This record gives sequence, structure tokens and C-alpha cells, in this order.
Amino acid sequence: MRNLSVLNAYFWKYRYRFFSGILFVIASNYFAVLAPEITGFIVGKMQQFLSGKPSSASSEVYGKTMNGFIHWVNHFDFSNIVIISSVTILVVALIRGLFLYFMRQTIIVMSRHIEYDQKNEIYKKYQSLDASFYKINRTGDLMNRITEDVSRVRMYVGPAIMYFINLTTLITFCVVNMLRKDVHLTLLVLSPLPLLAITIYFVNSIIHKKSEKVQASLSDLTTNAQESYAGIRVIKSFVQEKAMFHFFKENSETYRKNAISLARVEAIYFPSISLMIGLSTLITVLAGCFMAIRDPQHVGLIVEFVIYINMLTFPVSAIGWTASMIQRAAASQKRINEFLSIQPDMAVDRSEKMEEKIGGDILFKDVSFTYAHTGIQALKHFNLHIAEGEKVLILGKTGSGKTTIAQLLLHFFNVSGGDIFIGGKNIRDIPLQMLRDHINYVPQDVFLFSDTIENNIAFGLSEKPTLEQVENAARLACIDAEIKALPNGYQTLVGERGVTLSGGQKQRVSIARALIKGHGILLFDDCLSAVDPKTENTIIRNLYEFIEGKTALLITHRIFTVLNFSKIIVIENGTITEQGTHDELLKQNGYYAELYHQQLAGEQNPHQIFEETKF
Ligand code: ADP
Repeated sequence: MRNLSVLNAYFWKYRYRFFSGILFVIASNYFAVLAPEITGFIVGKMQQFLSGKPSSASSEVYGKTMNGFIHWVNHFDFSNIVIISSVTILVVALIRGLFLYFMRQTIIVMSRHIEYDQKNEIYKKYQSLDASFYKINRTGDLMNRITEDVSRVRMYVGPAIMYFINLTTLITFCVVNMLRKDVHLTLLVLSPLPLLAITIYFVNSIIHKKSEKVQASLSDLTTNAQESYAGIRVIKSFVQEKAMFHFFKENSETYRKNAISLARVEAIYFPSISLMIGLSTLITVLAGCFMAIRDPQHVGLIVEFVIYINMLTFPVSAIGWTASMIQRAAASQKRINEFLSIQPDMAVDRSEKMEEKIGGDILFKDVSFTYAHTGIQALKHFNLHIAEGEKVLILGKTGSGKTTIAQLLLHFFNVSGGDIFIGGKNIRDIPLQMLRDHINYVPQDVFLFSDTIENNIAFGLSEKPTLEQVENAARLACIDAEIKALPNGYQTLVGERGVTLSGGQKQRVSIARALIKGHGILLFDDCLSAVDPKTENTIIRNLYEFIEGKTALLITHRIFTVLNFSKIIVIENGTITEQGTHDELLKQNGYYAELYHQQLAGEQNPHQIFEETKF
């Protein structure tokens, strides 16, 4: 319950809805218990009419409203009393229904508002957390918190609270009315109800456990199906359709078994409630009959009690599942709280007020970096100065630390040692948003949203660009002609993860997305790997003009001879092993020279091109 206390702030935020909701619940139940009283009264009247004896019931057994009604209706003859009472029962039911409607309109609507606020709060938190958080948390788990956990919490702030208030007020009103009429009969009649509540609680916990299992096996089944669709090409090319189907069938079988087992338990739920209620009714009728033999005036009381017992069926059976709804919500809110309390490593707010522009000068000063969760040291005492407007090529084998350099520059992680400066400012002091807006980054792994190509290219801009701007960027990235050749041109939808485009096309759309910004530092992380050498050269040549005067950092495993780099760096195991211009590095006759000669030979003999991957 401690975990749920954070939700009190939300209840306070929507206090008017919440408190009026509580009042509506109380009012609806107040009217609900009038119906059995009026029915008991009419039956009593009938008994009195048939026997000719006056009623022995005192006014103390009724509340104020009921006494007022009896006082008024007693002025009429018996047949009119019956008609008036029947109409009153109908009116009371309508009023009750109206309050029930308002109760849902306030409490359930409030729960939807809270759900909306909570989803936004979680999403905002996701956005503020840094890359290391995403490395250690699975996407499925993150999705679950914003969907499943939030909806379980909503069940608490909405239905569970509503049923809880509803059942406590209704039980209180019924029991008070019953005690007023006959204490002994009340205790006798209610005796099976605690047993019913306990039974329901236990059956509910079994149902809860079983539905968790069903949920888990359903999640396995969905993941299985999802992966099969996403990886359909791999499955088909490795002729693994049968194996995948077998795997799916196994998961499906587990799901079926769990679902059937749940259905079996659920099947005894309502019969057990009916049994207990039947027992209470039986006791009422039996005990009532013995009382009526002694005093016929009790007939009305028996009828009234039978109605109360039936009215109590729902609230008593709701105790169990309201309790389990609250338990589930507490577990979910605990998971949400754990995650909301995570503080991002980056001191985002510390420097939120910086107003000057950021320059293009970059300095890595004795930078070391270790990935916290794996302990891999990706950079060791790395020093590099790139003056504003310089173009630098970073070369290295896979795993040498190239991407880490890009990610540290974007401040995805805090450095473990040393400092990084951009435009003379330590990146720790530059607001994250400003820093990232200043760097036009093309990542290694391309990601396109399920949207049009135009919107994918315009993604990083706060204002919608003109089609001409989009086309210009696409032209620079050598993708304009190919987009125009598509049936819907720039309006072509790139489906989930851009399935309609080839790897190379996706890379070029991603480049266009970075180039459209037009300002800032260019940071390309091996983003031409799926592009053929000829197109690659054209893109680089196009860039030549574009990056005039701009700082550019190109990370690659290939040598680009078309562009005159001010500095080329070869990196291995997180440290710089070679540094200089193209000519200087060729003279050094190290890795760069070796790669250059290999690449040259490969270009002359295309079969040799694969040799390059050795580097
Ligand atoms: P490159 O871009 O040159 O291929 P990276 O910078 O990606 O190299 O990786 C450098 C080293 O850091 C490698 O040993 C790699 O396994 C490790 N590494 C990269 N990313 C992560 C990560 N997110 N978590 C843990 N280790 C990582």
C-alpha cells in the first residue's frame, strides 16, 4: 500500500471529481436500500390487511425518510398504498441509477485522467534517461510499464476505489437496516457471508496466479509470433519454417493449458457465490418462517431480508477481487516508482540557461571511457583536437572504439576520465538539447519511423521544411532520384522499420535527415557501409561543398580518397595508433597504408573488395 501512496497527489489533483464521486456512491446506496424497506412495508401492510390486525412495527425500525413516507402513505387506502409504493420503488430505482451514472462519470473519468497523466509522466522520464539505461533494460519491459502496469494502476484509481466505497457503504446501509429490524435474525442470516468472503478471496488468489501464468504465456506467444514475422526472410532462407512452427506450437500449447486451467477455476467462482447466497436465503426463510408462525407480522421482514441478502451478493463477492486488484496495482506501482526514481547520469538542468552559440572546435582531452555494465574499456587516454572547419576521418577495426567517440561527443554517456570540449565549453556544461541539436549525427544503425519519406527526412527540424529543402537534402545524400521513382515519391510510407527500402537507401535517407539541418558539426558513424562505392564517392563529393567551413567527423572502416581530410586518425583498442594527413600516413607505411593499398587493389579488382573487411 506504501507504493500506492504516491497516487494521492493525483487524487488531490482531481479532488472535486473524487469527492463528488464518493458522495454519488453514498447517495446511490442510500436509495438502493429504500427498495427492500418499502417492499417489506407493503408485505407487512398486506399481512395486516388480510389478518385485520394492526401492525406491531414501531417507527424506530425505520430511518427518517422511510418514516416520512409511511406517515404520508398511511393516509391512503390499501390498494392506493400498493400503487404508490410500487411507483416509489420505481422512482427510487431511477434515482439510484442516476447516481450510479454520476458515480462512473466522476470516478472512472478521473481514473482515465490519472492514466493519461501517468503515461505522459513515464514517457517523459523515458526521454530523459540516457543510453546506459536503454542498454540494461529490455524494450518489452519498458513497453510493459507504460501499458500493462499503468492500466493495472488505473484499475486501482478507478474501479477498485469505486467498488471499495460502493461495497462498504452498501454493506453498512444494509446491515444497519437489518440490525434495526432484528438483531438475532441479522446475525443468523449473515453468518455464511464471512465464509463467502474468505472463499472468494482464496479462489481469487488462485485465479490471480493462474491469470499471471496465462499472461506470461501469451506474452511468450506474441514475442514468438512477432519475431517470426520480423525475421521471416532469415527463417525462409535457412528453411526453418517447420522448426519455427514447432516452437510456436509448443508455446501455443502452454498457453492453451494455462487458459483451460484458469477457465476451470473461474467455473467454480460464481456457483460457489450462488451456493453461499442460497444458504443465507435458506436461513432467512427458515428462521423467518419459525418467527412468522409465532407472529405473522414477520412475513414482511422475511421478504425484506431476502432482498437484502441478494443485494449483498455483489458487494461481498467484490471484496475478493477488489483486494486482488489493489494488490496487483501495488505491485505495478512499485515497478513504476522504481523506474521514476532513477536519476539520469547527465546533469541536464545544471546548465539549461546557456545562451551563447556553440562553436565548432572539438577537443578530447585525455578521455577514457569504460562501459559500466560490462566493464569494457572502450577508450584509453584519448586525445584529439579538431579545429573549427576541419574535416577528420577516424578509421579503425570493428570494436576499436569509433562509435564510442561519437556517443561521448553526443553526451550519451559521461566520460570515465578526462574532458570533452566543444567550442571551448565542456560538454558537461552544455544543455543536452542544445548540444545534440548542434551535432548532425548519422548513426550506424539506421532507424526510420513508420511515416512518409518526407517526414522521416524532416524529423529533426522543429518547423516543417519546404519540399524543396527536403529534396535538396535528399539530392546531397544521392537518394532524390530513387525517391522520385517510387510511385508516391516523397509521400511513400516506409513501413515498420522501413521495410520497403533497401539497406543502402535507408542509410541515405538517414544522411538526408542529418544534412537538412544545414548547420552545426557533422558526425557520420560508418553510415555508408551499405552504399556501393560509386554512390559513396558521389555522396562524399556532394558533401565536399556542403561541409565547406563546417567541422566534420567521419567514422569509417574504408578510406575516402575523394575528400581532402585535414587529419586522419587510426584507432585501435581505444587508443590512437596513427595520425596525420593522407600522404603522411602513407609514408608511415602502417595500417593506413596497408588498407589503402588493399582498397586500391580491390577497386581495380572488384573480387578483392571483400578483403577490406579484414581491417
Ligand atoms: P567500433 O565503433 O569501432 O566498432 P565501439 O565503440 O562500438 O567500436 O566499441 C568499442 C568497445 O566497446 C568494443 O569492445 C565493444 O564491444 C564495446 N562496447 C560498445 N558498445 C557497448 C555497450 N553499449 N556496452 C558495452 N560495451 C560496449
